[in-house]
Amino acid sequence: KLYNQVQDLKGNIRVYCRVRPFLPGQSNRASSYDHIDDRSLKIITPSKYGKEGRKSFTFNKVFGPFSTQEEVFSDTQPLIRSVLDGYNVCIFAYGQTGSGKTFTMTGPKDITEESRGVNYRALSDLFYLSEQRKDTICYEISVQMLEIYNEQVKDLLAVEGSSKRLEIRNSSQNGINVPEANLVPVSSTFDVIYLMNLGHKNRSVSATAMNDRSSRSHSCLTVHVHGRDLTSGSILRGCMHLVDLAGSERVDKSEVTGDRLKEAQHINKSLSALGDVIASLAQKNAHVPYRNSKLTQLLQDSLGGQAKTLMFVHISPEPDALGETLSTLKFAERVS
Ligand code: ADP
Ligand code: MG
Repeated sequence: KLYNQVQDLKGNIRVYCRVRPFLPGQSNRASSYDHIDDRSLKIITPSKYGKEGRKSFTFNKVFGPFSTQEEVFSDTQPLIRSVLDGYNVCIFAYGQTGSGKTFTMTGPKDITEESRGVNYRALSDLFYLSEQRKDTICYEISVQMLEIYNEQVKDLLAVEGSSKRLEIRNSSQNGINVPEANLVPVSSTFDVIYLMNLGHKNRSVSATAMNDRSSRSHSCLTVHVHGRDLTSGSILRGCMHLVDLAGSERVDKSEVTGDRLKEAQHINKSLSALGDVIASLAQKNAHVPYRNSKLTQLLQDSLGGQAKTLMFVHISPEPDALGETLSTLKFAERVS
């Protein structure tokens, strides 16, 4: 309740920044920032990027390199709970490849209970809370897992693999939806782990040996919540999209051609379309350009209006990532 009031005062868009630690073997190197506190970050900018000095960025929250998955999630939790009250929610992970997007949303490769990311924790919370409310509301929770690659929507939960391209539809009854994609009822974290593994497998099957496609496609875990009030019989629906975005790095157009160039152009287009939508919502513009990419079309119902948006922007600590770090922070400034 209190959180919702705070949200209403501040608007429904929040931006959190997470700084990845140096990876094993990289310890004690200089980093590209020299100050972090709860709300801000100072980046060291050498003269190459304009005036030499420090540039400060502020966010709703900053998570430093030593933040745990649990700490990151605890700030996300109220948002997830609001899905059970019938709100629509989008949570995005933005940043260059290697900055920690998948770590935040899913976890590291060798996953442990402690290192599980937002996706698993969110569903686990939904199960826990729906159980607590079961005497008053009967909830059904189901999930879809989609991939958007080269502006084509694929089903990551298709048993036969994710090769078929699907249409995004808009119906008066269900709103925006992808009717051909599997929608799987889930009732335990066990089900969720199974499905996330299946989705992950489908995502990498379609990758060629040299190309890690996961960094060049968006993946979206959508959780549909349907609740029936046991006394009044009224129905509520909430929906949450957990989106691991494609890497935001700029590709040098002089160095790539063919498929790789096409991929880069699609990513560019969809990330800037997302930025445009969120920025125009933040500025309360009358026209919101949802139509400019598959991603924003898919999420249209859950961006704007009563819906709540949380953007995690990820940055890498290395000075040689500074160019991308600044462009990520610029994106963050634009949408907040
Ligand atoms: P992205 O999905 O943005 O390409 P990853 O999530 O795959 O990046 O992260 C790159 C590497 O850094 C992985 O080995 C990951 O486990 C590690 N990593 C990322 N964020 C953290 C973190 N907060 N703490 C520890 N290791 C991290
Ligand atoms: Mg990733």
